[in-house]
Amino acid sequence: MADTRKLLILPGDGIGPEVMREARRILDWLDRKRGIHFELEDDLVGGASIDARGTPLSDGTLALARDADAILFGAVGGPAWEKLGFDKRPEIAILGLRRELGLFANLRPAKVYDPLVSASTLKPEVVRGLDIMIVRESTGGIYFGEPRGIETLPDGQRRGVNTEVYTTSEIERVGRVAFNLAQGRTKRVASVEKSNVMESGLVWRQVMTALRDAEFPDVELTHVLADNCAMQLVRAPKQFDVVVTTNLFGDLLSDLAGQLTGSLGMLPSATLGAVRPDGGRHALYEPIHGSAPDIAGRGAANPLAQILSLAMLLRYSFELTAEAALIEAAVVRVLANGLRTADIMAPGAARVGTGVMGEAVLRELDKVPQ
Ligand code: NAD
Repeated sequence: MADTRKLLILPGDGIGPEVMREARRILDWLDRKRGIHFELEDDLVGGASIDARGTPLSDGTLALARDADAILFGAVGGPAWEKLGFDKRPEIAILGLRRELGLFANLRPAKVYDPLVSASTLKPEVVRGLDIMIVRESTGGIYFGEPRGIETLPDGQRRGVNTEVYTTSEIERVGRVAFNLAQGRTKRVASVEKSNVMESGLVWRQVMTALRDAEFPDVELTHVLADNCAMQLVRAPKQFDVVVTTNLFGDLLSDLAGQLTGSLGMLPSATLGAVRPDGGRHALYEPIHGSAPDIAGRGAANPLAQILSLAMLLRYSFELTAEAALIEAAVVRVLANGLRTADIMAPGAARVGTGVMGEAVLRELDKVPQ
């Protein structure tokens, strides 16, 4: 990786700019206290870009995105743009970035932080210490497969069609992401499909097995049917470490796993592209929550998902593992000290706003010997 680290910041709409402000303060801290410098570009995306430029993702923004080593994204959307046609809405910007940058592997950690264990609807003993990484294939499968469409049959009935389709190379590239991640964790991957009833699932299973045998013999691979995986995630989620699955099953299972933690404002994500010959890869990091128009402008949003997305960016795009761990540890200490934004409020805790929460993370970081 080159010495300069180019970062594109896309705050977006609603609470996006509010939570991004706190992530930027962490970037300033990294620069001042640890000499880690990023070349930053800021740009509009989503509704803010529609208002200024008439499009949710301008060519200029896309060019900046292509040029960046990583993108830190806030959230887009809101009532002001809801009446626009589906293909003109702010959310299209995310799909456009994924498509244009070839971001095919969506990483969704579901981690239960000890101080928040009671935020889950499951019993504390079931979720305490939970740390799962769901890897969802995000550019293929049934959401993109052909044929697709709606037709009217000769007898007047309507028929809706979507096609689940995966090729060897599509499965291998997302499999490699999962196996690589597993090597840095507990070396266990659960591959999830429905090979009992779907041919595409059978190919998925066979390709994953062949890939593990050929390239990752040190990783334990298990195959889990998607319906069983959903049950197991609720029954005994700690049996899983890295879970790799298709676009459709990943969509469902990553939301399910995220909810085991009980707090939307705490969940980061990453979406990665292919590794290029120069060793770099496109990557976009964003909290999984939306623009939360109901609380936007009030300084009430939880900035921790955005801050944890920045930690993922440091770890996966720049191999700044120590700094990522520092930030995650600072977040845990802030929670252990009893500070809570409204979304994770608990009896006896101190309710704070976005800025105070961000400041508290910085204060914890300052305590680390430099
Ligand atoms: P949302 O995630 O914005 O909000 C759901 C609920 O969670 C709201 O009550 C909100 O106040 C709360 N919430 C979300 N993030 C929070 C945070 N950080 N701190 C405290 N509370 C938080 O989902 P929604 O209401 O369904 O969607 C609102 C808009 O966001 C829509 O336009 C939607 O299309 C868009 N959206 C964007 C993304 C994205 O940018 N990736 C993702 C989901 C939804």
